[in-house]
Amino acid sequence: MYLIVKIFVISLSAVVSAMVVIVLVRTLLHTPVDMPAVEPQTINIDEAAIAEHLAEAIRFRTVSHQRSEEFQADQFEGFIAWADATYPEVHQTMELSRHGDYTLLYRWQGSDPGLQPILLTAHYDVVPVIPGSETDWRHPPFAGVIDEDVIWGRGALDDKSAVIAQFEAATHLLRAGFTPQRTIYFSFGHDEEVGGSQGAGSVTSHLAAEGVQLAWSLDEGSFLLRGMLPGVEPLLAAINVAEKGSVTLQVVALSAGGHSSMPPKHTAVGILAEAITKLENNPVPGGLSGLSAQMFDTASRYMSFSYRMLFANQWLFGAILEDQLSSVNFSNAMLRTTTAPTMLAGSVKVNVLPIEAIATVNFRVHPRDTVASIVEHVRSLVESENVEVRLAAGSGRAASAVSSWEAPGFAVIERAIREVYGEVVVTPGLMIAGSDSRHYGKVADNAYRFNPMVVSQDDITGFHGTNEKIGVHNLAQGVRTYVRILTLGGTPRSG
Ligand SMILES: [Zn+2]
Repeated sequence: MYLIVKIFVISLSAVVSAMVVIVLVRTLLHTPVDMPAVEPQTINIDEAAIAEHLAEAIRFRTVSHQRSEEFQADQFEGFIAWADATYPEVHQTMELSRHGDYTLLYRWQGSDPGLQPILLTAHYDVVPVIPGSETDWRHPPFAGVIDEDVIWGRGALDDKSAVIAQFEAATHLLRAGFTPQRTIYFSFGHDEEVGGSQGAGSVTSHLAAEGVQLAWSLDEGSFLLRGMLPGVEPLLAAINVAEKGSVTLQVVALSAGGHSSMPPKHTAVGILAEAITKLENNPVPGGLSGLSAQMFDTASRYMSFSYRMLFANQWLFGAILEDQLSSVNFSNAMLRTTTAPTMLAGSVKVNVLPIEAIATVNFRVHPRDTVASIVEHVRSLVESENVEVRLAAGSGRAASAVSSWEAPGFAVIERAIREVYGEVVVTPGLMIAGSDSRHYGKVADNAYRFNPMVVSQDDITGFHGTNEKIGVHNLAQGVRTYVRILTLGGTPRSG
């Protein structure tokens, strides 16, 4: 007996030691992959003049309102006239057409008609400033103030900075006598913040009608992120290769109604509350696979030892790791379709029992799921004889297709970023918000979503919030990166 115990203890300790060795070796090998060497590029541009142009562009109140009757056509026409006067080289060289009335499509003819065209795009409409919050801004949101090398105002990040940077990059190249081999399109949208169906939607139909199939497109998306992931010191550029979809469901609890003085044990509101709790406690299954796995694999190589140990040994720590990632809102959204109950309705009067209590729940659909699979998930959790799940007819948008991160377009963007910014961790990423690329993706082999400027934690509140701003040098670095993207992407046969 004693001998058997002894053998068991020895074998157990051998197994444990072996596992420790495997975990350690895998952790030590989980280090940054060598970045391809690139030649740093110096691009001389007038940073102050570019900043002034963005400040001027911010002064046009090109606001997309949810109620279309608030649309101010004169502001959009003003912006278009301003662009015409400010960027003469672009307007002399490129063919301009307008779509959905205010979206501008420029076509820069390439020298080799045998090459597939590419598209760079951004939007010049902005979201409104929440009434009452104007005074929280350090500088008024539409004043276009430059203060201490920072440009302030609505659209400084989302997304007038990209429109201006693309105009500037094209102007820089035109002045240098550059002609692309490929035809290059620029599309500047006027209604992205309300879905883009008039602007990007019409441009997409126009391109399709002309028989244009783009090699790739580049739209707004992620930025170069500073200090957003623990331990990742270099800038992190997640070039988004897909965007999530969106499904909004109504969960409806039914009850007999009557007077509140003699209620049943659970009113429709109580039944609904239980259903919502169930939905929140049973998230849509997700995990580290496909795109999410690729992204975290690259980034985690820069993290602290303990994180690297978890990521490098998912065979052992997979469950712990997914728990950890799911507990942080940002990474949870990368791993799965998210569940967000947002609106509630019940009885119309304090003493009337509701016949129906309704919760509106918004799901942001991960590329691995479909609209139907989300509806099925919700039904299986909450549907019963007194709970219904309703999907408004025609609503629900699946996630976009996932573009290749091994295709030449991705490599062009990656190389341009490194030529301008030096050491940057580049990964494919998943966009959790929507963009006009939901339209353009239909006429592009690959659709990428990335803005080549830096944002830090401190800038995040500016997106659709207060004190939106961008540094003068940061904007100029964006221009330089677009110059390189246009040069490398526009001349695929120059090696
Ligand atoms: Zn935007």
